Amino acid sequence: STEIKAVITLFGATGDLAKRKLYPSLFNLFRKGFLADNFALLGTSRSAWSDEEFQANVRESIQKIAEDKDGQYDAFVKHCFYQPHDVTNPEHYDKLNDRIADLETKFGTENNRLFYMSMAPRFFGTIAANIKSQGLLSDDGFNRLVIEKPFGRDFESAKQLNKELTETFDENQIYRIDHYLGKEMVQNISALRFGNTAIESLWNHRYIDNIQVTLSEDMGVEERAGYYDQSGALRDMVQNHIMQVVAQLAMEQPLTFTDQEIREEKAKALRSLRKYTPQEAAANFVRGQYAAGDNNNDYRHEDGVDPESITETYVAAKLSFDSERWAGVPFYVRTGKLLAGKFTRVDVVFKKPLLDIFSNAANSHEQKLNQNVLTIYIDPKPGFSLTLNAKKVGQGYTTEPAMLEFFHSDEQKALSPEPYERLFHDALEGNSTNFASWSEIADAWQFVDVIRDVWDHESPEFPNYTPGTMGPKEADELLARDGREWVVK
Ligand code: NAD
Repeated sequence: STEIKAVITLFGATGDLAKRKLYPSLFNLFRKGFLADNFALLGTSRSAWSDEEFQANVRESIQKIAEDKDGQYDAFVKHCFYQPHDVTNPEHYDKLNDRIADLETKFGTENNRLFYMSMAPRFFGTIAANIKSQGLLSDDGFNRLVIEKPFGRDFESAKQLNKELTETFDENQIYRIDHYLGKEMVQNISALRFGNTAIESLWNHRYIDNIQVTLSEDMGVEERAGYYDQSGALRDMVQNHIMQVVAQLAMEQPLTFTDQEIREEKAKALRSLRKYTPQEAAANFVRGQYAAGDNNNDYRHEDGVDPESITETYVAAKLSFDSERWAGVPFYVRTGKLLAGKFTRVDVVFKKPLLDIFSNAANSHEQKLNQNVLTIYIDPKPGFSLTLNAKKVGQGYTTEPAMLEFFHSDEQKALSPEPYERLFHDALEGNSTNFASWSEIADAWQFVDVIRDVWDHESPEFPNYTPGTMGPKEADELLARDGREWVVK
C-alpha cells in the first residue's frame, strides 16, 4: 500500500455520520497503513470545541470498532484537529485556510487537500463558493471534494447544485458518495461478468429472461422520519442506489478497467434506459406505504410524519433498456421499509430451454424444468448462487433443481472494508470508479422525475401493505402481467 498524503477538512464533524462512519473508516485506513505520518484531519462545525474535545470524541467513536493495540488510538488522534466554523461566514474560511496551511507544514502533506461535506445539502453550494472565494484551493497539490447524498431532489435542483460545485471543482475532482458502490458484492458484479466467459457470453436478451434487483429493509423510518417524509423511497433509494446497481448490470464491457471507462459505460447504460411517458410511468411503477405494524403504528402515525402523508415507503418498477443487448428484457426493481427481511440481492433469471425433452420421460409429469437463476447476494451475507436442473437420483428420469453456492468466509468478511472505508481510500487515491458521475446522476433524475410528477398529481390508496410482507399486491401483479414472478416472494 502506498501512503496517502493529505489534509482532510471535514464539514459536519459533530454530526451523526462523522461519528458512526467517517472516523472509524479513517482509523481503519490508519491501522492498515494507508494513512501513516503524512496526513491530518481537520474537523469543523459550529460547536466551540477545542482540539482536545474533538480528539476525545474521535476516540470515543473509534473505540466501538477496534481494541487499542500498541497505542494506536493515541497515534491516530494526534492527527486530528478541530476548528469552530460557520459555513455561511466567509471570514471563518480565512482562519480555516491558516489552519490547513499549518497542518500541511506540520505533517508534510504536499499541499494535497480533500474537502468532505457531511452536512445538510443546502450548505453544499455555499461551502464550495467560499472555498473558492477565500482561496482555500491548493496551487500545487490536489484538490478533491467528497460530497454526501442526497445530490438534489430532482433534476433541476441537482443541476443547480452541480453548477455551484463546478464553479469551484472540476468534474474529475468531485467524488459523490453512493455507499452502495462501496459494497463488496456490488463491486464484484464486474468481476463476475467480465472475468467469466461462462457468464458474460450469456449476459444478453438471447439467454436472460429478466433481472430482479431487491433492496429490502426490515426497519421503519426510525429517527429519520422528518427527512424521509420529504423524500420517499423513489428519491431515497431508487434514483441513486438502485440506478447504480442496475447500471453495473446493464453496462457494456469497458475498454479497460479504469474509472473513466467504467463511468462512461455506466452513463451510456443509463442513457439507454427507456424514459417513460407519464402513462408508461403509471403503468410500470408501483408505490406503497406501510400500514399498522406490531406496535400498532402505521407510517402516518410515526413521529415526524404528516398524518396525511402520501410519501411512499415502497417502490417496485419495471425498467426497460433500448439497447441491442437488453431488447425485451425487463429489469424489475423494488425497495421498501418494514418488509419481510433485511437483504439486498440481484436475481438473474435465464430463459428455459426451448424444448423440454424430459417432459416425455417416465415419471416426469411431476417435474418441469426450472429457469436457471444466478443470484448475487449483496447483503447481509455476500456470495453467489446458481440454480441448475439436474437428474434426480434413482430409477426413471426426473429432474430437480440443484444449487451451486459460494459465500464469503468469515475470514474474507473480516478482510472486507466497510463501504465508507473503501470509498474514503479511493477518494484519497484519486480513483473515482465507485462514485457516481454527473452524467449518471442527471440521467437517473430525469428518469425518476417523470414518475414523481405523475405520483404527485394523484392520491394513492395508502396505506397498502402490511409490515413483514414483501410489499403491496400490485408489485406481484406487475410481474404476473408479464407471466413472471419475483424469485423472492
Ligand atoms: P447531522 O445533522 O448529524 O450533522 C450535521 C453537521 O453539520 C453537524 O456537525 C453540525 O454542527 C454541522 N452544521 C450545521 N450547520 C452548520 C453551519 N452553519 N456551519 C457549520 N456547521 C454546521 O447530519 P448527518 O446525519 O451527520 O449527515 C451528514 C450528511 O450525510 C448529510 O448530507 C446526510 O444526508 C448524509 N448522510 C447521512 C447518513 C447518516 O447515517 N447519518 C447516511 C447517509 C447520508
